[in-house]
Amino acid sequence: MGKILVTGGAGFIGSHTVVELQNAGYEVVVADNLSNASEKALERAAAITGKKADFYKVDIRDREGLGKIFAEHKIDAVIHFAGLKAVGESVRKPWEYYDNNITGTLTLVDVMRTNGCKNIIFSSSATVYGTPAFVPITEECPKGQCTNPYGWTKSMLEQILSDIQKADNEWNVILLRYFNPIGAHKSGTMGEDPSGIPNNLMPYITQVAIGKLPELGIFGDDYDTPDGTGVRDYIHVMDLAEGHVKALAKIKEKAGLKIYNLGTGQGYSVLDIVHNFEEASGVKIKYSIKERRPGDIAQCYADASLAKKELGWEAKYGIKEMCEDSWRWQKNNPNGYND
Ligand code: NAD
Ligand code: UDP
Repeated sequence: MGKILVTGGAGFIGSHTVVELQNAGYEVVVADNLSNASEKALERAAAITGKKADFYKVDIRDREGLGKIFAEHKIDAVIHFAGLKAVGESVRKPWEYYDNNITGTLTLVDVMRTNGCKNIIFSSSATVYGTPAFVPITEECPKGQCTNPYGWTKSMLEQILSDIQKADNEWNVILLRYFNPIGAHKSGTMGEDPSGIPNNLMPYITQVAIGKLPELGIFGDDYDTPDGTGVRDYIHVMDLAEGHVKALAKIKEKAGLKIYNLGTGQGYSVLDIVHNFEEASGVKIKYSIKERRPGDIAQCYADASLAKKELGWEAKYGIKEMCEDSWRWQKNNPNGYND
């Protein structure tokens, strides 16, 4: 059996997926330019699984660098996480986002086909639904208008990969639309390590809890939701990782083109998350209500029944474990991988 190439494998979701792949018996090669990650994440993963992934510090836009990986390993499939993901930054630096995410993926896919590897699992996002036409969101829900270049890179890359598969049915393409990944590995040695002030809710909350940030700003309490704050489908990163292992099994059955939502199906508001986190950690979270954040939607949660039916996957962890595990990681590593 060949190996699995994980692009962006040193990042948050990628590193947790490396653990689950190795636990499932796969041999893993990681390609990451470390623009938003630390190689330490891979050391921690190796300490958990007892297996070291082959690591290449390479940019996915670097054709020769990628070619070297395919020359040195027989790669059966690629799980493609590599990409820039900060929504606000993408509005300020659209060229950089389109270049990194789209040029990068086009280069990767070209190197793959040149080397006879036509199996890819792509990290997409619920953001492609725009303001969803209905909730819970099924895969049938039409794609919508994205509010920022980051979202458009996901939407466009879905189209590009779908067109490539349609033109050449030797390709197996699985597009995984993640909802809101939080949580961390149970060991407390791996987790999300955002650089600078976090954009996302859970790392912001954990940094308030540890005393690095004074208080949480809640972006709007006048949405049409039960308590007025935004509702999202938070999913444990280990569940998400497991979803990729299941998707690989599907690739082996000659999947063709498939699209799956990876969420829990359960929506929680910002205040629900604050309260659940307080209960799990025993730490009170100071917050104040702020203006709505531009581009935010009222609610977004998945109907994940297709992934259950076709991949045999469903989320196992609830909100309590998501909060406990996020907190254990933050408490043990106040400065993330710099500790
Ligand atoms: P992350 O930033 O932790 O991981 C992405 C990794 O890709 C990083 O390690 C970074 O160094 C690497 N990378 C970026 N550009 C690269 C390039 N040109 N060449 C090589 N490596 C490069 O982010 P994450 O949260 O683990 O997200 C993984 C993927 O899932 C991303 O594509 C992201 O857009 C997508 N996604 C994330 C979320 C989320 O909320 N975290 C939601 C939906 C989709
Ligand atoms: N949110 C918030 N304060 C923050 C960060 C996020 O109130 O500092 C809210 C945001 O408005 C949304 C939810 O938390 O309703 C999740 O936001 P996040 O950025 O984590 O993910 P998104 O769903 O926007 O991708």
